[in-house]
This record gives sequence, structure tokens and C-alpha cells, in this order.
Amino acid sequence: MSRPLVAIVGRPNVGKSMLFNRLVGRRLSIVEDTPGVTRDRLYAECEWCGRKFDMVDTGGIEPTTDSEILLYMREQAQTAIETADVIVFMVDVTTGVTASDRDVAAMLMKSRKPLILCVNKVDSVGELPMEFYEFYELGIDGDPIPVSSVHGTGTGDLLDRIVELCPDAEVEEEDDTIK
Ligand code: GDP
Repeated sequence: MSRPLVAIVGRPNVGKSMLFNRLVGRRLSIVEDTPGVTRDRLYAECEWCGRKFDMVDTGGIEPTTDSEILLYMREQAQTAIETADVIVFMVDVTTGVTASDRDVAAMLMKSRKPLILCVNKVDSVGELPMEFYEFYELGIDGDPIPVSSVHGTGTGDLLDRIVELCPDAEVEEEDDTIK
């Protein structure tokens, strides 16, 4: 039996690669400030509380116009729906809810795949910023999880939720961490 597959879906620049790099414990994919950089789709094995799963970082050419972004996200979401066991939908607290977030959230919810809403760039500790609560309007089951991929805060809660939703996987023999 193969390990459960977890996909991270979200608009360009919400911080998907940075989270991916943090969760796999090594910096593997390129994190670029420049929009439009080309990246490969990367898979890595993760382990949390003795449970193993594979994580996929969506890559490719990142679009810049709103209509291109929407198409790109729909494609990303469709691939995740078809291949992943758990989907982490990442949004950005600094931009708030966007039209493409709403569109893709609806698409992901319709698929009925286990779905986690991860609100990234919540960098300050202490009380959650007001903007965080805006994301409840997306209507995704369960509370949104605040995370700062830069500082690593909240990632433990995110991993807890991921393994909670992962189908049970048999423990496998060790193989290469990075394929
Ligand atoms: P992706 O396009 O979704 O993969 O996003 P990236 O991981 O490439 O990050 C996009 C930008 O957001 C980069 O400039 C990152 O430094 C920044 N970023 C990512 N995570 C955080 C975070 O938790 N806090 C802040 N303040 N910036 C972040």
C-alpha cells in the first residue's frame, strides 16, 4: 500500500513552497520572489508522530494575470482532487480572501476530499489578526489553521490535522526520501 498523498493548493505567492520546504525539513524547491519562475512538481516524504505521507508541491509556470491565475489554480485543484488523499488549501492573511480563493474553495469542497484550510503569513504571535477570521466565509469544514511558514509557527497543528485526515498507511520499508 502506498503512502497517503497530501497536496498543497493555493494562489501563487501565498507561501506553498516555503511551507513545503519547512515540512520536509530541507529546502528543496526554489523559493523566488519573482512571479513567473518555473518550478518542478516536487514530492517528498514526510513523517509526523510516526505516520508517513508524501507531500507534493505544485509547481510549473506561475501566472500573473487574474484570469491566468484562476485557470492555473483550477488545474492545480483538479490534479489534487484526482491524485491526493488530503488537500491543504493555502491562503494568505495579508491579502485576505480573493475571488480566485472563493472559486477554488468551492471546487475543492464539491470534491468532498478531506480538505484543510491553512492561513499563511500569520507571523505575529499572540492574538490572531482580525483578517484571519475573514477566511471562515469560505465555508470549509473545520477551523482554518493559522501558520507562518517563515517562522514555523502553527505547522505542528497543521501536521496534526493532516495525519488525522490521512487514510491509514502500512509502514513501509525505507526508501529514498526524495524522488
Ligand atoms: P508559492 O508561490 O505559493 O509557492 O509561494 P512562495 O513559497 O514562493 O512564497 C511567496 C512569497 O511569500 C515569498 O516572498 C516568501 O518569502 C513569502 N512568504 C512565504 N511564507 C511566508 C510567511 O509565513 N510570512 C511572510 N511574511 N512571508 C511569507
